[in-house]
Amino acid sequence: MLDCAMPKRGENRARAALKDEARMREVFQYTARTFDTPYPAPFGALIVSTKTGQRLVRATNAVMRENDPSSHAELRAVRLACRKLKRTSLLGFTMYSTCEPCPMCMSNALWARLDRVVYGATIADANRHCLQIHIPASEVAGRSDMKCAVEGPVLRELCVTLFTHPKMQKAFRSWSTRKPGSPGR
Ligand SMILES: [Zn+2]
Repeated sequence: MLDCAMPKRGENRARAALKDEARMREVFQYTARTFDTPYPAPFGALIVSTKTGQRLVRATNAVMRENDPSSHAELRAVRLACRKLKRTSLLGFTMYSTCEPCPMCMSNALWARLDRVVYGATIADANRHCLQIHIPASEVAGRSDMKCAVEGPVLRELCVTLFTHPKMQKAFRSWSTRKPGSPGR
């Protein structure tokens, strides 16, 4: 029995990993589209049904566009999702983010009751280009009464290219949170 069950569990895990990668690739491509707009941003988020994988909403960072320091991609995606569903709970949904959520966004994901958060690049990766708050998303989740699985990095190298893209490097120069001495300067 055990011999039969083990590979199956492994297969399921491999299938789930492939699905996570496909969705990360989707949010990567969606985020890269900002490079052809006046406000390039390396941060994008996608919320899907945990069970079916069907897309609910997606959003990119709009701090510069909206002159709002809280307009992070993950926060905007949760706002859009709750507005769309006309409820405050996103139980049953998973968020994919091109970068590990900052403490503000991870807290918001917990308040929103998301099942899972899957990220691409890490906070340390982002910190090579812009200022960050150095508390891992998993730590924020671990100190919360609400449960949310935090998984990543997934397709980290691909997501890091959003930060190193020449158009993004140029755009970082106008960010108030640019990292002094970063390659973008
Ligand atoms: Zn954030």
